[in-house]
Amino acid sequence: MNMGKQTAWKEIDNTAAEILEASDIIWDCAETAFLETKSMKVLCDLLRKEGFEVEEGTAGVPTAFKGTFGSGKPVIGFLGEYDALSGLNQVAGVAEKQAFNSGAPGHGCGHNMLGTASLSAAIGVKKYLEETGKSGTVVYFGCPGEEGGSGKAFMAKGGAFEGLDAAITWHPGDITRADTGSSLANYQVAYKFYGTSAHAGGAPHLGRSALDALELMNMGVQFLREHVVPEARIHYAITNTGGYSPNVVQPYAEVLYLIRAPRTSQVEEIYQRVNKIAEGAAHMTETRVEIDFVKGCSNLVSNRVIAKKLWENLVELGAPEYTEEEEALAKSIHETVAKPYESIEKFAKEFNKETKQEILSHKGESLYKFVVPFLENGVMSFGSTDVGDVSWNCPTAQCYVVTWAAGTPGHSWQIVAQGKSGLAHKGLIYAAKAMAGAAIDMYEDPAVIEAAKEDMLETLDGETYLCPIPDGCKPRAIGMTKA
Ligand SMILES: [Zn+2]
Ligand SMILES: [Zn+2]
Repeated sequence: MNMGKQTAWKEIDNTAAEILEASDIIWDCAETAFLETKSMKVLCDLLRKEGFEVEEGTAGVPTAFKGTFGSGKPVIGFLGEYDALSGLNQVAGVAEKQAFNSGAPGHGCGHNMLGTASLSAAIGVKKYLEETGKSGTVVYFGCPGEEGGSGKAFMAKGGAFEGLDAAITWHPGDITRADTGSSLANYQVAYKFYGTSAHAGGAPHLGRSALDALELMNMGVQFLREHVVPEARIHYAITNTGGYSPNVVQPYAEVLYLIRAPRTSQVEEIYQRVNKIAEGAAHMTETRVEIDFVKGCSNLVSNRVIAKKLWENLVELGAPEYTEEEEALAKSIHETVAKPYESIEKFAKEFNKETKQEILSHKGESLYKFVVPFLENGVMSFGSTDVGDVSWNCPTAQCYVVTWAAGTPGHSWQIVAQGKSGLAHKGLIYAAKAMAGAAIDMYEDPAVIEAAKEDMLETLDGETYLCPIPDGCKPRAIGMTKA
């Protein structure tokens, strides 16, 4: 038995009450991207209390921060998130959709647990470094605006992740596994059309419609979709149609595009083509277009060496024991889910027949207590995460840990409803221990870090990090048209 890990795990248990309280307070705050001032304070206060040196406003991002403990190599980082989603306000602990403040934000991605569990792991490692007197530094990164903001890409642009030997994070989920998959890179760009207003009946010949331009742009992009790499995704939201009056030629219209592809270089290429379409639409309508880059993030390069360490620790620790009340909540939530087996089927099909059967035998359970076998090369997600930008800077891995009922859909009221429950609390402590354990495996054996660096170079295959954020681009809150 590894005494270093026992020290860290005991410390995580000893400080669990404060961590769980912090998770619940952040759930209550439910602040969306780049507005997370209260949540940030909760986490920074805890870091200071634990003796970490705290820096606020890391890399020029106001709600980003960093807590550092120890000295020398290796330097290992834990990534924490704490932003909520708009409109997902929901009563805790019930199995029906029920808001207590309709339209307000809610923690529909479980980031109240994400940020606190990573902090708990950092506290465990701090204790380990103190007790063993080993050389090494642990850094907690407070990463804001993951949802719709790509906060880590802005932090990476400011050099926040330089000098790290490894980074570890996790995500709450309905299934426990180490992630070796990738995700799509993306750009989010606002196209703003400026036309000339006129009386639509009396003097239409004097008007130049910004809304016409926007519609022509969307039509142009429809034709583009057939001629991009098949994994690419081009989504849009019309965020301003120019007004409510059809008897006015609309002088202003705005559309927000989200362009995704497996690599940043592919997103950049599609983006340049979308820009041409937008300019073409402006030409056709004699309007003007302003192209406003909002944010971007890189594809995820999962580190197989660190992911394996996370997996080993998850297996060693095993799933938590649940009370009857927790099982009952999971069951009642599970019954509200439209597609309860999607996650289990998605992973099962990656394995050989025997393992597949074993995984699928858990169908029907309302709370999964097993760890998915390790997959050397994981499934590609068609979503995106700004963990990608960290993963291009240093070997990075993440795990998923059960914090909610089997089949709970992403970004849902069901996630918010379970966010303060025993399922959430036990899962986040389990995740914290697995992350601390994987980090200690690296402090104990430098060869693990060397192998992780080699694995990263192999995956990058000669490419180097190209931050998707252009110079001068500043993070902005959701719905804000200006930084
Ligand atoms: Zn999310
Ligand atoms: Zn998330």
